[in-house]
Amino acid sequence: SKTEGRSTYRFFEAAMGEEVRDRRILEHDLRHAIANGEMSIAYQPQTHLGSNEVTGFEALLRWKHPARGDMSPAIFIPIAEESGAILAIGEWVMRTACHEAASWGRPLKIAINVSALQLNSPDFVSLVREILDQAKLDPSRLELEITESVLIRDPDRALQTLTLLKAIGVSIAMDDFGTGYSSLSNLRNFPFDKIKIDRSFVRSIDVNMPAAAIVRAVLGLGRGLGLPVIAEGVETSGELAFLNAEGCKEAQGYLFGRPAPIEVFRAVTHVEAVA
Ligand code: C2E
Ligand code: CA
Ligand code: CA
Ligand code: CA
Repeated sequence: SKTEGRSTYRFFEAAMGEEVRDRRILEHDLRHAIANGEMSIAYQPQTHLGSNEVTGFEALLRWKHPARGDMSPAIFIPIAEESGAILAIGEWVMRTACHEAASWGRPLKIAINVSALQLNSPDFVSLVREILDQAKLDPSRLELEITESVLIRDPDRALQTLTLLKAIGVSIAMDDFGTGYSSLSNLRNFPFDKIKIDRSFVRSIDVNMPAAAIVRAVLGLGRGLGLPVIAEGVETSGELAFLNAEGCKEAQGYLFGRPAPIEVFRAVTHVEAVA
């Protein structure tokens, strides 16, 4: 009926208003999150399959909101990207994680996620240099994880930035490979050092035909291009067995260790796969 239609409309209007308000509040809270000490970094081990040796750690941002508690980066990173707060937050992540990595007794890699706004900001390369210098971290220890969406807006500029980063000795991993704006030509046109297979393909590779075929194909692609491949989100021994059988050399996932404060891993050199 007419009345129902109107009240439905009102309902949506109100709901939408609430969502927008909610976003504004989070945007505001994000601007103060670092100064308020609400941000931290969880580290997740990356493991060489076969030896079980830890090769590095991915830095994953954590936000403990004063009222709402732990917020997922899947929710707050897009908001920080839209509002521009990701520039300050991303710089804090890089500074903190590089300082942390410099204190490790071993030359392990530190993998850091970089969003489009950061990579495209005019002084990004000099910022990275300054952070590495200040942390006294060898550039070869730093690996930047970027998704293909980062390359879309201004491919020429992205290529220039990645080339400069490589020239100072930083390595670049293609994150979330196979999702979103994925294109094989990106592997040819940009100087990637590593391919990271997204968790959505790794999930149930041992029982899921299409996922298995895709993972097998990506591993073949990596071999053909001479690019190492790391599998993300490995949770079960079945998935690990499949990856081993297909010649995957490196993996990351709950099976080897959940993202955790660095204290948990400080003395860890090898991780056992525990399902
Ligand atoms: P991502 O880069 O694809 O990171 C992998 C995500 O998978 C992480 O989620 C990690 O905790 C989760 N994960 C790892 N192993 C497993 C597993 O075995 N099973 C399952 N179910 N999940 C696993 P997280 O920490 O919630 O981060 C989500 C996304 O937020 C990241 O996806 C990344 O895109 C973004 N992100 C996190 N930290 C940062 C950051 O400092 N800067 C930027 N720009 N983005 C970040
Ligand atoms: Ca990542
Ligand atoms: Ca992913
Ligand atoms: Ca991602």
